[in-house]
Amino acid sequence: MIIALDGPSGVGKSTLARALASRLQFSCLDTGALYRCVALSVLLAGVDEANEIDVSKLAQTATIRFAPQNKVFLNGADVTDDIRGARVERIVSVVAAYPRVRAALLEKQREIGSLGNYVVEGRDIGSTVFPNAECKFFLTASLEARTRRRLLQNQEKQRGSVDEQEVRNMLAKRDATDATREASPLVCPSDAVRIDTSDKTFEEVLTLILNHVYE
Ligand code: C5P
Repeated sequence: MIIALDGPSGVGKSTLARALASRLQFSCLDTGALYRCVALSVLLAGVDEANEIDVSKLAQTATIRFAPQNKVFLNGADVTDDIRGARVERIVSVVAAYPRVRAALLEKQREIGSLGNYVVEGRDIGSTVFPNAECKFFLTASLEARTRRRLLQNQEKQRGSVDEQEVRNMLAKRDATDATREASPLVCPSDAVRIDTSDKTFEEVLTLILNHVYE
């Protein structure tokens, strides 16, 4: 069984996906981490992110592995923290817009999802990666709410920017790129349950989602 959780940056998908997976005893797949690994490969290889062919080659050859405690390994190295850095944030939506990159990662996502029951979070899970997912949710929240949450998260984890304006601009820019790209843009699938989380607590959203899953 697949539960698809889509939505823009900073909407709380990752925390919700993990909580949901733990309540249902499902595994959890953070597909954003895959795109972030490709962005990090580009930086490490010194490749120009504007060169779609070179970037796509990196996406096709990268070995990405998920390990317990939400750890992510890229070509054997632990990159759990590195993929959350500001340099990756700046280019991840650029590399994610390339159709060849998306094609390479589509296979990986479907391969992983075929291994069992998964909560899969991303931007195009219900629309493209798992269009037949049993449950689909699309989370939204105002830019203000998402900026506040991301700032708090960055402060708590001591990583990323803690400048409000910078965080707001970065989220807005990334969402605009994700929503306007030609390949699998960020859209709410017609058969997804849409939830605006702006004025809801984490527990309220989790309960809403669980009620739909048990329906
Ligand atoms: O979810 P996260 O913020 O880690 O995603 C990073 C970026 O990866 C997104 O801004 C988007 O450009 C890309 N992404 C995507 N499709 C997905 C997941 C992430 O294009 N399914």
